[in-house]
Amino acid sequence: MRIQKISAFQVDLPLHEGSYNWSGGKSVEVFDSTIVRIETDEGVTGHGEVCPLGPFYLPAYAGGVRAGIAELGPQLIGEDPLDLERLNRRMDAALKGHPYVKSGLDMACWDILGQVAGLPVCTLLGGRYGESFPLYRAISQEAPAAMAAKVAGYRAEGYRKFQLKVGADPETDIERIHAVAAELERGDVLIADANTGWLMHQAARVVRGVRDIDVYIEQPCLSYEECLTIRRRTDHPFVLDENIDGIPILLRAHADGAMDAVNIKISKFGGLTRARQARDLCASLGIAMTIEDSWGGDITTAAIAHLAHSTPPELLFTATDFNSYVTVSTADGAPQRKDGKLAASTAPGLGVTALPGVLGEPRLEIS
Ligand code: MG
Repeated sequence: MRIQKISAFQVDLPLHEGSYNWSGGKSVEVFDSTIVRIETDEGVTGHGEVCPLGPFYLPAYAGGVRAGIAELGPQLIGEDPLDLERLNRRMDAALKGHPYVKSGLDMACWDILGQVAGLPVCTLLGGRYGESFPLYRAISQEAPAAMAAKVAGYRAEGYRKFQLKVGADPETDIERIHAVAAELERGDVLIADANTGWLMHQAARVVRGVRDIDVYIEQPCLSYEECLTIRRRTDHPFVLDENIDGIPILLRAHADGAMDAVNIKISKFGGLTRARQARDLCASLGIAMTIEDSWGGDITTAAIAHLAHSTPPELLFTATDFNSYVTVSTADGAPQRKDGKLAASTAPGLGVTALPGVLGEPRLEIS
């Protein structure tokens, strides 16, 4: 089987809540998502999706996805989409770095592999555990009382894990964590994600200011070294995210005892192939995982579901259903949240059918 054509579509994904706000005043109102289509000489077609969290979160931006595919795509025409590890090495040889550019291409090839095998991607990634897996709800940064007021509604939707967007001034962040913690019920889980927003002295104040709260601290500072310093002066369970983008830093962080859990975003690692490699390593090392992506719609959510549902449940800390945050559906068959949980499709491949009317005309066609 050969890759015959690669197309990229641009879709705007507005938010039900109007905007999504996190550390440093960063905010997005409409996400710019790229949907990748790969067509083969045997008539099988696969889809992938890449949607950066704006241009100021990871070293990734929406236009860069399309520019990168324009650069890399011609190198993949004629390659076998089923040889995923070989294809990833080909992409790495043709374009150094830029993992997010490769993510949608890799995802689309997994969709093709699953269709050819007649199996859901979940099975190919290791096998389905149980009926479903639990999701978290991100609580966009607002005033402490406004964030606390969101908890009951999200719990009514079935969520029991709440990730607060903090990373602002320490006094207000301490208030945010206390205000939301007061709304929790037994069995709820609270995560305070600073998204690199604190300097070390600020992070030190916050972890001390919430010492008696049962809360996970996620990615407090910009650099790995700053996070490690804070990790060593707090006894809160600790999650690393932005700094962990590959196997070498994952191994270093494990050796340093730098985290209890890690956030694996598919596009941060460069696709399902690389994210699975990190997932399996974490599972072997006993590191719990949040499995998600930077953002996305139906296709990203489907890919998350396949990777999360094939992760041993005791190691899956939580995952995200981005398609419930956005107002536009881009594919039929995508998993839908039920009672705060999600399940991967049992159909072959990713189990999604992209909606041509939503995708519109391609921004890019390579053949
Ligand atoms: Mg995070």
